[in-house]
Amino acid sequence: MKNLLQPKYILLFIFCVAAFFLLRKQFEGSHDVLIAGDQSNALCPVHHTKLRLDTVGIYIRKDEPDSAYFALQRRSFPLALDTFYLLEWFQDDEHKGLTRAQVWYCPACRAAKKLFEQGQS
Ligand SMILES: [Zn+2]
Repeated sequence: MKNLLQPKYILLFIFCVAAFFLLRKQFEGSHDVLIAGDQSNALCPVHHTKLRLDTVGIYIRKDEPDSAYFALQRRSFPLALDTFYLLEWFQDDEHKGLTRAQVWYCPACRAAKKLFEQGQS
């Protein structure tokens, strides 16, 4: 037991602790997904279907769609959520590395949105 208190073992121990923190930090940096709370029991207010979990890209939306589009979205596909829009990027260190976000979406909403977009073009 006395051998373990030699300086080289203490240095080794400090090194291991430092390595653990450095590696942990690096590992956390690879988590670029914003985690969503569990909504597996929630239902779509329009289609009354169970929501599913997906991971979508995060984008900054500079130009807001007009209010007519928002009204249609609310009525026909409120939970399509095929993209996660932000007005500006996260300011804090914890979130600025994020590129994707988990979303709970309604499959029927996505289908409705797709139909709407096909009708537009
Ligand atoms: Zn829906």
